Amino acid sequence: MIPEYEVFAIRYATRDGRRKNHFIGGDPHDAPMPMDYFVWLVRGAERCFVVDTGFGAEVAARRGRTLLRTPAEGLALLDVDASAVQDVVITHLHYDHVGTFESFPAARFHLQDDEMAYATGRHMRHRQFNHGYEVDEVVGMVRMVYKDRVSFHNGSADLAPGISLHRIGGHTHGLQCVRVNTRRGWVVLASDASHFYEHFEKRRVFTTMFNVGEAVDGYATLERLADSPRHIVPGHDPLVMQRYPAPSPALEGIAVRLDAEPLD
Ligand SMILES: [Zn+2]
Repeated sequence: MIPEYEVFAIRYATRDGRRKNHFIGGDPHDAPMPMDYFVWLVRGAERCFVVDTGFGAEVAARRGRTLLRTPAEGLALLDVDASAVQDVVITHLHYDHVGTFESFPAARFHLQDDEMAYATGRHMRHRQFNHGYEVDEVVGMVRMVYKDRVSFHNGSADLAPGISLHRIGGHTHGLQCVRVNTRRGWVVLASDASHFYEHFEKRRVFTTMFNVGEAVDGYATLERLADSPRHIVPGHDPLVMQRYPAPSPALEGIAVRLDAEPLD
């Protein structure tokens, strides 16, 4: 029998935005469309995995984001000590996904080959592709490589029974999603393979984009990996906080259980 995991989204930051910020091709109505920032916790009987490490106060201030709590503070609310976490999946090296990796001194970081190559290679000469990265964080992750604290993956890989990584590409060259077995079936943490539900539902693409073709093909990959579209969790959609229940009344608005059936 495949182990089942509890899966949580922890909302650590937010920002205002408009629809034109989030879709190539814009939107004729251009209504407000705020964006939330999450890290995710996958908790099994024996092991726990943290997916992404968000950003901290300094980057939040510089980039004009509202930091609600650091990712480590969010994890502590779920009784997880960031300094003891052994496995951290980095879906990609953008500032809002790798920012506080130094708060995880015991962790191995699971990263796609293509992401490190992309973040340190020729395309980073261009503002169009480098604006989502913080060079000090990319260099910091290179230092982690030299300390043998990075596990590289190429395509799909099992981390443990019931949890696997899958390269999607598109938004960045080495973007990966995470597939997890839960009590309601296979859930896919899309991360930025679909920022909002609308991206995969309407086959539209986000504005920060390396490869449109891979992004659109990636939506079919998400659907293949998940038990249903209701099992796909987008990376930045405030609707995630409405569609899933909080783990406890105290965590209302802070965290939700993704292994629970959606509330709709
Ligand atoms: Zn992101």
